[in-house]
Amino acid sequence: MALGGGLWYEPCRTFHDPRLEGRGGVISEEDRVRRRVWRRIAPLWLVVGLLFTPVLSGCATSGALDPSSAASGKAKNVVLLIGDGMGPSHIWASWLYSNRVLGKNLKMIEIMNAGHTAYLVNDAADAIVTESAAAASQIATGQRMTTGALSMAADGKTPVKTIMEILKAKGLATGLVTTSGITDATPAAFAVHVAHRSDEISVADQELTFGVDVLMGGRKQFFLPEVSAGKRTDGRNLLDEARAAGYAVVGDAEELRVAAGPRILGLFHMGNMAHEIDRSVTMEPSLAEMTAKTLEALSQTPSGFFAMIEGGRIDHAAHRNDAAGMIHDTLAFDEAIGVVQEFARKNPNTLVIVTADHETAGLALISPSKESKADIGIDVTTIRKAKASFEVIADALGQDPTPKQVQQVVKTYLDIEITDDEARTVANDTIRKLDPAHYGYLFLHSLAFVLRPYLGVSWGSQSHTASPLLVFGMGPGSERLRGLLHNTQLFDIMKSAVE
Ligand SMILES: [Zn+2]
Repeated sequence: MALGGGLWYEPCRTFHDPRLEGRGGVISEEDRVRRRVWRRIAPLWLVVGLLFTPVLSGCATSGALDPSSAASGKAKNVVLLIGDGMGPSHIWASWLYSNRVLGKNLKMIEIMNAGHTAYLVNDAADAIVTESAAAASQIATGQRMTTGALSMAADGKTPVKTIMEILKAKGLATGLVTTSGITDATPAAFAVHVAHRSDEISVADQELTFGVDVLMGGRKQFFLPEVSAGKRTDGRNLLDEARAAGYAVVGDAEELRVAAGPRILGLFHMGNMAHEIDRSVTMEPSLAEMTAKTLEALSQTPSGFFAMIEGGRIDHAAHRNDAAGMIHDTLAFDEAIGVVQEFARKNPNTLVIVTADHETAGLALISPSKESKADIGIDVTTIRKAKASFEVIADALGQDPTPKQVQQVVKTYLDIEITDDEARTVANDTIRKLDPAHYGYLFLHSLAFVLRPYLGVSWGSQSHTASPLLVFGMGPGSERLRGLLHNTQLFDIMKSAVE
């Protein structure tokens, strides 16, 4: 029976604190040390505080580096983090993996425990099951949108003002970061207005015309003309135009490390950036590295900033029913959340909101296991053996694999020995043929189906679902994250926090 690690909801390096009952009762080692130091110096600070109260009132009570905004309960900076397709089960699967394989808690859970948490629903104007364009546009504008549209009214012609436009008009710097394409729907919704998300040539143009200070992600092809292997039919080279407009234009992890703001255009792949499990650390920066550089660049603007940071490929792994790929991308997203959390600790006038746009693929953690029939839920020890995403596995399978080839590919990339019958199910693509309306990727859904008893993971679909989501956060304004919210309400929570 594979119980993988033996930790059960009690991550390494955390300690039970009875004073935190009701908030999970667990604090990190870092917090414990901080508290011990604080207990020792608190009496001294009390005396200093009484002597200098008129001078230090803002700082002493909040610890804020910017006393004016912290004392007024207003946010100077807003960082919105969106895990694309990251439903509650995606978080729990990643949490179990993080606890049992990596021996550490998720930053997401720390923020939930220390900050504020709510449920989030996300139906659009024309659909109960939404997609990234409508979902991000609803968060960005506060209005219900038709699916496919990017911050554009249902007539397809009337732009609807976004939170990023409003905050930019107030003098805040702006940033958009994703592991998907920077012209993909989630980042685009905050800066552009187009009738349909597929118009990525217009999206690239509008993002630069808007003057987003930091843009990082993939899909460089929409910034380059056809003569440079790009997709632009207008012959423009937006990279050259961005350089002329004062952007540092970078294309790999090392160039990003040495880039100085305040304006950076980082495009690290012609298509989407790699799934985290496949990523070359020299070719492409991690989402956490992009996030750290973004915060550094945007902080140069004294009046504050708005940034949207997306774990864009969680969704893509879930569409392919790829458990290991999804978990690795969620963990990379969590690492980026940790970077923002640390920034917010030093800059408490920062509103941090973490959520998703929708759930992808109806993820369920199921039992029993292949070997024992015992109720387990998810076998993280088998999932940890995966060496590549299903995107890579699909390429290895090709268009017409034999059952023998299927067995070899599954053994090579997932270290699992499937039976002859199971290999035939994949080679015949039986599951996709049973329900072609809901399963589109060649062989991958049949593969995920036969892997269910090995991984303890099942997928109800290849597409998005209407599952309620989680939204949680910290900082000024995050106290409004409570109960059941609709994603349109996040617009006002962010706007009111700054105004
Ligand atoms: Zn999707």
